[in-house]
Amino acid sequence: LVRFDHVVKRYGDHTVLDSLDFEVRRGRHVTLIGPSGSGKTTILRLLMTLERVSDGVIWVDGEPLTHQRTPDGTLRPAGEKHLREIRKRIGMVFQQFNLFPHMSVLQNIIEAPVNVLGLSRDEAEQRARELLDLVGLSDKTHAHPTRLSGGQQQRVAIARALAMRPEILLLDEVTSALDPELVAGVLDLLRDIARSTDITLLCVTHEMGFARDISDEVLMFNEGRVIEKGSPEQLFTAPEQDRTREFLSAIL
Ligand code: ATP
Repeated sequence: LVRFDHVVKRYGDHTVLDSLDFEVRRGRHVTLIGPSGSGKTTILRLLMTLERVSDGVIWVDGEPLTHQRTPDGTLRPAGEKHLREIRKRIGMVFQQFNLFPHMSVLQNIIEAPVNVLGLSRDEAEQRARELLDLVGLSDKTHAHPTRLSGGQQQRVAIARALAMRPEILLLDEVTSALDPELVAGVLDLLRDIARSTDITLLCVTHEMGFARDISDEVLMFNEGRVIEKGSPEQLFTAPEQDRTREFLSAIL
């Protein structure tokens, strides 16, 4: 479903991703691990089209995400309209929730389905209420985000991402800004979602227990490249690369 094809990302003369190639098949749950600064968040931001590639192409379902086909079949960098269409298919949950502080929980969730997908308010509200039920926040429908705990805000952010019915859900260290006692609840919710939907998940996390539970595949990053990949059992119990062993022993 997703393919990075020789993707390069530079900031100035700092190369963050260095001719990166990897693939995520539809319905798979893939976790990216690796040291801080290795480029994991950058990958998600490129997929969400919050950043542009410096070189290479990202493909989604055989269509270029970063580029558009011209009538003669060549590729040119994607325009805003193309990017807006692509964004509809991808949802992202951020470390810092990023809810709209001036809107109620319900408004936060229905905003994009109404304005981007063109759903009627009633339809969007019905979907939002189902999702609030799923994330255990039915009693907070009209609350403002500032009145919620971090864990509750993150649940709203998860509901908001799912309200767009994305094919691909990107999770960027979604529990790292939470108080320790709130982490387990949010991870349990995500485990349920991973188990009960056919969504394709791409997840950056430092929670190795969670990664082990939900992942079909784990990719180990170092300096902008995938240096090792495998099933969670393989990677966590018998890593082949010294760098992976070193990284895991430092965080486990
Ligand atoms: P972490 O686990 O700490 O979030 P990461 O693997 O997700 O790390 P990225 O956030 O992708 O790493 O960052 C990779 C590198 O790119 C870092 O060295 C960072 O300083 C740099 N970087 C990221 N965004 C920008 C930016 N907008 N401008 C300049 N440099 C950036």
